[in-house]
Amino acid sequence: MTVPSPQPSVIQSAKKLVLKVGSSLVTNEGKGIDIDAVSRWAAQIAQLRAQGRQIVLVSSGAIAEGMARLGWPRRPSAMYELQAAAAVGQMGLVQAYEAAFTHHGIRTAQILLTHEDLADRRRYLNARSTLYTLLALGVVPIVNENDTVVTNEIRVGDNDTLGALVTNLIEADALVILTDQTGLYSADPRKHPDATFIHQGQAGDPALEAMAGGSGSAIGTGGMLTKVLAARRAANSGGHTVIASGHEANVLLRLAAGEPIGTELRAVLPVRSARQRWLANHLRLRGRVTLDAGAVRALTEAHRSLLAIGVVDVEGDFERGDVVACVDEHGVECGRGLINYSAADTARILRRPSSQIADILGHMSDQELMHRDNMVFARRRPTAAPQ
Ligand code: GLU
Repeated sequence: MTVPSPQPSVIQSAKKLVLKVGSSLVTNEGKGIDIDAVSRWAAQIAQLRAQGRQIVLVSSGAIAEGMARLGWPRRPSAMYELQAAAAVGQMGLVQAYEAAFTHHGIRTAQILLTHEDLADRRRYLNARSTLYTLLALGVVPIVNENDTVVTNEIRVGDNDTLGALVTNLIEADALVILTDQTGLYSADPRKHPDATFIHQGQAGDPALEAMAGGSGSAIGTGGMLTKVLAARRAANSGGHTVIASGHEANVLLRLAAGEPIGTELRAVLPVRSARQRWLANHLRLRGRVTLDAGAVRALTEAHRSLLAIGVVDVEGDFERGDVVACVDEHGVECGRGLINYSAADTARILRRPSSQIADILGHMSDQELMHRDNMVFARRRPTAAPQ
């Protein structure tokens, strides 16, 4: 599971990198953008570029900068105020990056994404080709969530996950998540003095996910679990993840030189195809179908298509072509895919053999409720949803 003696960092050989910096690394508590910090990140990234690497930067900090510009001492809780702060602050964030990178003769581009942009196949492909084009042009894309327009239904929600989605989108070799913590411990070191630091592990290892999010692990509440799950997602396209402290001097240059800093979560699972990743990366689904035990086995063990006869329940309001989850009787997801029938039609044909579909509905578009070619299957049972 974990390797005690660290090898050289995977970042050493990574040519295409997604770098995520958290708000605390680019802003001063209550005072907005920390220009010196932004300049230091730009200087390091300029050196990585000079080494022939391509970088996409995912940066938080818009809300913190917006609060400072608006003179708000406390983070508002109302969505519309957060969105207003993000709209004001994003200006400052990209201004700071542009000024800092211009100093090194590097152009920057602003990319604001929502989950919906990545869930819609055409917009996903557009975002992908734009990022590829920018990288080919030598530009450093600076990505953030489009906080101004997001609602809970369409938001990614955090920039660790957004960083992993961008890693998948551009098939980056590695995702570096810089934070104000040193990395992952086996337990909360404040409560467990014997907790050990995890130098290296495998992305998607359920034991690490339990350490990051398990009960009694304060360090895992929120922050670290999101990062460990982001590593699992990044691994879908073969991206390794490093979670390290942004307070380490020259952390990016040292990682690039092979110094093992932080927690490295290596991508060891077979890489999913771009289409499977697109399916797996749907964070918000339109509905779900509950399967009987036989159908669960057919999906998880043989990766078969889903037939209506194996479905016992349907929830949600979806149309033909929407992405829908397949869950077992405990609600654990065993796969997901593009469904061939609407929620209303599915409710009418569930538990029925395919030969009766035409009679029941008066039409039949497909034998299968979901075809295996349009599905992605969970890699682990019983705890994991496809990520
Ligand atoms: N998009 C938010 C911001 O720029 C940050 C979200 C996050 O850090 O996860 O303030």
